[in-house]
Amino acid sequence: MGHFINVILPIPLEKSFTYAITKAEANFLQPGVRVSVPFGKTKIYTALVIDIHQNAPLVYDAKEIHQILDDTPIVTSQQLKHWQWISTYYMCSLGEVMRAALPNAFILESETVISKNDDVVINDADLKDDEFVVHEALHHQSSLKIQDLIAILDKKNVLPVIKRLLEKNAISIQEEIYEKYKPKLVRYVKLSTTFSSETALQELMLDLSRAPKQRDVVMTLFSISAQTRQPVKVTDLSAESDASTSIIKSLIDKGILEEYHIQTDRVQYDGDDNVDSKQLNAYQKIALDDVKKSFEIQNITLLHGVTSSGKTEIYVKLIEEQLNLNKQVLYLLPEIALTTQLVERLQIYFGEQVAVFHSKYSSNERVEVWNNVLTNSPKARVILGARSSVLLPFQNLGLVIVDEEHESSYKQFDPAPRYHARDTAIVLANIFRSKTLLGSATPSLESYYNAKQGKYGLVELNHRFNNVMMPDIELVDIKDKQKRKRMQGHFSDRLIEEMTETLKNKHQIILFQNRRGFSPIVECNTCGHSPQCPNCDVSLTFHQYRNQLRCHYCGYNTVMPKTCEACGSVEIDSKGFGTEQVEQEAKVLFPDHKVARMDLDTTRGKYGYEKIINALEQQEIDILVGTQMLTKGLDFRNVKLVGIMNADNMLNFPDFRANERSYQLMAQVSGRAGRTEERGKVLIQTYNPFHKILQQVSTNSYFEMFEEQLGERHVYKYPPIFRMIKITLKHKDYNKVNVGADWYARSLRTVFDQHVLGPEFPPVARIRNQYLKHILVKIPQKQSLGKTKEAITKINNSFLSVKDFRPIRVILNVDNY
Ligand code: ADP
Ligand code: ZN
Ligand code: ZN
Repeated sequence: MGHFINVILPIPLEKSFTYAITKAEANFLQPGVRVSVPFGKTKIYTALVIDIHQNAPLVYDAKEIHQILDDTPIVTSQQLKHWQWISTYYMCSLGEVMRAALPNAFILESETVISKNDDVVINDADLKDDEFVVHEALHHQSSLKIQDLIAILDKKNVLPVIKRLLEKNAISIQEEIYEKYKPKLVRYVKLSTTFSSETALQELMLDLSRAPKQRDVVMTLFSISAQTRQPVKVTDLSAESDASTSIIKSLIDKGILEEYHIQTDRVQYDGDDNVDSKQLNAYQKIALDDVKKSFEIQNITLLHGVTSSGKTEIYVKLIEEQLNLNKQVLYLLPEIALTTQLVERLQIYFGEQVAVFHSKYSSNERVEVWNNVLTNSPKARVILGARSSVLLPFQNLGLVIVDEEHESSYKQFDPAPRYHARDTAIVLANIFRSKTLLGSATPSLESYYNAKQGKYGLVELNHRFNNVMMPDIELVDIKDKQKRKRMQGHFSDRLIEEMTETLKNKHQIILFQNRRGFSPIVECNTCGHSPQCPNCDVSLTFHQYRNQLRCHYCGYNTVMPKTCEACGSVEIDSKGFGTEQVEQEAKVLFPDHKVARMDLDTTRGKYGYEKIINALEQQEIDILVGTQMLTKGLDFRNVKLVGIMNADNMLNFPDFRANERSYQLMAQVSGRAGRTEERGKVLIQTYNPFHKILQQVSTNSYFEMFEEQLGERHVYKYPPIFRMIKITLKHKDYNKVNVGADWYARSLRTVFDQHVLGPEFPPVARIRNQYLKHILVKIPQKQSLGKTKEAITKINNSFLSVKDFRPIRVILNVDNY
């Protein structure tokens, strides 16, 4: 009797695959170990063993594996169980889950491209013969494919060589180019050495007597230095001398002061010298107790705490408890909130036990975190991560925290698995019989609904820390302002007044505009034509900075035309507005202040986002204009005013969640204002100040919003009352998509009847030259989810067996929140 293994291959095919092994291999292998296997005629894949058995496949001869790649499992049995759930629940293959879970460096395959690590010195003596040959070949050719290696080494199984070279850090496999480590720089000033002599200094002070403000700055510099005997930060000097940064800048320009930068360590810690966590206030204490009590009877608890109520400090107490039990904690955050701000805050308490995991990490960094989590290393007890960190190989998971649980970015859209990290984390916690805490100031409708239904525990925290007042929110009617000519560009007189006052008091301002670019579209005043993307059915967006028209869907760009391409008219105008235009108008209105912008265009690269955050913290920015990136749990002491430039484009978004999302977005942005003693101010500009969501935001009425929106979800049969599965068909041929979608929807209707919606083209019906059509299946609470998916899978299989339909791509999206 032979020996066999079942493996997962990193491909979207449903089934697992069987390969033959020897008896000795059968004794050695365990589930979770990687092997390299042949696939098809020429391909070689990394495969993951899930089962070892003696049942020969009935319909084909099992091929032999090439080689075993690991001594011990790199994937745990709990993970395999978790993957199985993901694959079933989100209707995708185990191979797709594996591909999402494993760092790239773990999945070598025929298409893998390798290159030499130039900055690593490798001693030839440390390389085995085959390793040396590959390394040598990379001196002559910058990158090699697996096929090249097979030719060079004249053997089929080259994955082990690559694996060994990777372990020696001699090569990298292809991945995006990442910025190298960027130290955090802080600006300092000192007196120029030209004035170090007594006489030169006296002369300088005499000179400066005609510029008293500058003189003050220099005097203040002396007194700070004398007091602290430390280098003087620009921000401290500015605060102490009450001088704007422009005065300091002019002193630097004149050569009187010298500017320099010191690299500050992000965090300084050593294992046992951590700072004690904060003493909770009375409200926090009650909330913490309530969470613990809730956990005695519930696996999942929702902590609904207003912005700045001190939720993070409550998490810290719960984490401490788990660490004392030697357990791991997963702390999930939306990608964008994973800034040094929070990382530092946690590292101060937990030192190097904190491991960070997100998509801007290189493959090598990810492998490191993976291995630390797998071995339950003391370096990875608190795993602070974005969506994909729910897929790490936890050993001893004691608690999961999902912060900002309402964030839509927790749902993966493309590629499969299209999983929701919050829901997937809850399942993960269940596998470990541990608890999940969801936290938010503006919970998602489904979580709050689950809490109200008694499925989750619910703890409310309504007091901001230090009794800081909730910001004062004022709605500004810009229709009326326009009529009365009280607008300058997109700024109402009220906004300008408040901004002037805030700047006078040396406080900072955040301006929120939910669109990037200069103005979303460009239109000809003569014929009405607006330039379209050639690949997508969408108008191009004007980006003034590059004088370009760009497509936000596919990246297509072209120079801004001087005349209308349809009629030749020179009267081309912009409609609507984006962050870039707000930035420019703010610069014109407040020429003496530093205005900066934070959106997708200004935050590319690993540290792009942090650079802007640091600058804001260092008070090098007075006015920050940004998109919804600004909303994510940031804590800025000195921001006193938040302006929402236009609430209407959010509210009018064609989506059943538009109202809920708008509330969350505005409440979160508002939460950035006035986080210290003084009360913050928020101005919301709108054409429709009586909109119920705006009223609810301005009165901080989450519960009212919840009830009203839930009522609508009942009426219109949307989540959380109904579940949804979205089916998207995609092909470059318009007719094919139409015919296919009709067939698909008709088949679905035979089973689900009136609960099938569509097929319908989305607002942007063509992206990258592919037409899209959606079909929606709504699932009442009583209907079995499992049976529903079975029926859909069956229809899907029949669909794909029709020859004409086979080239159409079908995307299944479960819970497309
Ligand atoms: P949330 O996460 O609810 O928005 P945070 O946890 O960020 O609130 O707390 C808001 C601010 O209050 C932070 O600057 C935090 O350091 C401070 N803070 C919260 N709780 C305490 C405490 N118990 N003692 C001292 N400072 C606290
Ligand atoms: Zn025209
Ligand atoms: Zn496009």
